[in-house]
Amino acid sequence: MGIRHIDVRLCNGCNICVEDCPLDVLRLDEATKKAYIAYLRDCQSCFLCQSECPQDAIRCVAVHERRMPKAW
Ligand code: SF4
Ligand code: SF4
Repeated sequence: MGIRHIDVRLCNGCNICVEDCPLDVLRLDEATKKAYIAYLRDCQSCFLCQSECPQDAIRCVAVHERRMPKAW
């Protein structure tokens, strides 16, 4: 659910997504200067990171994935 992907080829390390995420999901790798998803489970699919990224490097999905219980 939520954020799916950060394209590191497009990311310029501006840190906007890290600063703007209200759930503190994202971090900037200090070595590579690329954003990465640090706490995926906390993401609430608000789409702010995707809309704010100046490089269009982030993809989110709105639908929460549900795991169907298996019959046994
Ligand atoms: S906002 Fe976009 S370009 Fe900036 S650090 Fe995040 S992913 Fe990279
Ligand atoms: S969709 Fe919202 S909660 Fe999820 S990583 Fe982006 S800004 Fe954070």
